[in-house]
Amino acid sequence: MTTPLHVRGVLLPNEEQRDLWIVDGHLTFEPVPGAETIAAGGWVIPGLVDAHCHIGLGPHGPVHDPAELHDQARADAAAGALLVRDAGSPADTRFLDDEDDAPRLIRCGKHIARPKRYSPNTALEIEPPELAEVVFREASGGGPAAVGGDTPCGEAHPWVKLVGDWIDRGEGDMTPLWPADALREAVGRAHAAGARVAVHVFGEEALPDLIDAGVDSIEHGTGLTEDLVARLADSGAALVPTLINLDNFPDIAESARAKYPVYAERMVRLHGTARARIRAAYEAGVPIYCGTDAGGGIAHGRVVDEILALHETGLPAEAALGAGSWAARDWLGQPTLVEGAPADLLVCDTDPRADLAALHSPLRIVLRGRILPG
Ligand SMILES: [Zn+2]
Repeated sequence: MTTPLHVRGVLLPNEEQRDLWIVDGHLTFEPVPGAETIAAGGWVIPGLVDAHCHIGLGPHGPVHDPAELHDQARADAAAGALLVRDAGSPADTRFLDDEDDAPRLIRCGKHIARPKRYSPNTALEIEPPELAEVVFREASGGGPAAVGGDTPCGEAHPWVKLVGDWIDRGEGDMTPLWPADALREAVGRAHAAGARVAVHVFGEEALPDLIDAGVDSIEHGTGLTEDLVARLADSGAALVPTLINLDNFPDIAESARAKYPVYAERMVRLHGTARARIRAAYEAGVPIYCGTDAGGGIAHGRVVDEILALHETGLPAEAALGAGSWAARDWLGQPTLVEGAPADLLVCDTDPRADLAALHSPLRIVLRGRILPG
């Protein structure tokens, strides 16, 4: 058993001045004799959450090397992201569950897309008639193995990740991947297996069928027009806008422009309206969470930049912080600073609600009850 630790500070979001102790990786409010005080003042927040991150994708595509996967995970945790929803990964990252310096991972399995309608060598590539069965298999870890190629794990996933739209090179523009009936059936099978469904979607056209099908989170969501925002708010689904990655849209547009000018124009247009649309979604009551989209165009370890971007886009500081901490934990079914919870927390020496940038240099990051090296 390691030495128990003691922290005194203002616990957020409830704003209570408390003492807490850390024993065997868990929190307790019962005093523990002989504990080492690691912070005697400051603000204590539940470990940050990156709800859209790809441990298993790098700047050159899929990553399978365990050392590199571990480096990605360590970079996320060192930035304070102690809980990660891996929003689609080609890699088997289960070994990270046993690593003390890796964030807790909520896995989606591989992206599910159609052939040639996502990044190469990344997704399970299938056609619409197979969608419900493949979604069920990814959600339940079982079911027929004959469709959709190999699955990395045969593991039940609490979330399933669909690609909702992507460039169709034959059309020269972005188009939806799935017909409405296939989506409805697939989302129903996921929910029946106890999983939730996250969907990558940039454009406007794919959104109505996705919202009607009952998906649980819209990833990026740059196509949310005014009427779609209202429908999304009514549906109860969340939005993970991945704001820092939206700034890559102009580069994506320019690299595509010679061959796909219509698509390029669309990306420029979506970039121009994205922040206003996301602000409108927040104002309409759509739950918004922090996700960096680390993996391809975004480096791992940028969770604080995304929290700052959410604030700059219009979320009040406390809401932006909650979107990357306690509110995201509630949404993902993970505890905050309560008796018996895993000891995953940050201590800041100033109130992060008054200065979100303080999250860049916390006094302490504690993961699984251990202080991460600063
Ligand atoms: Zn992504």
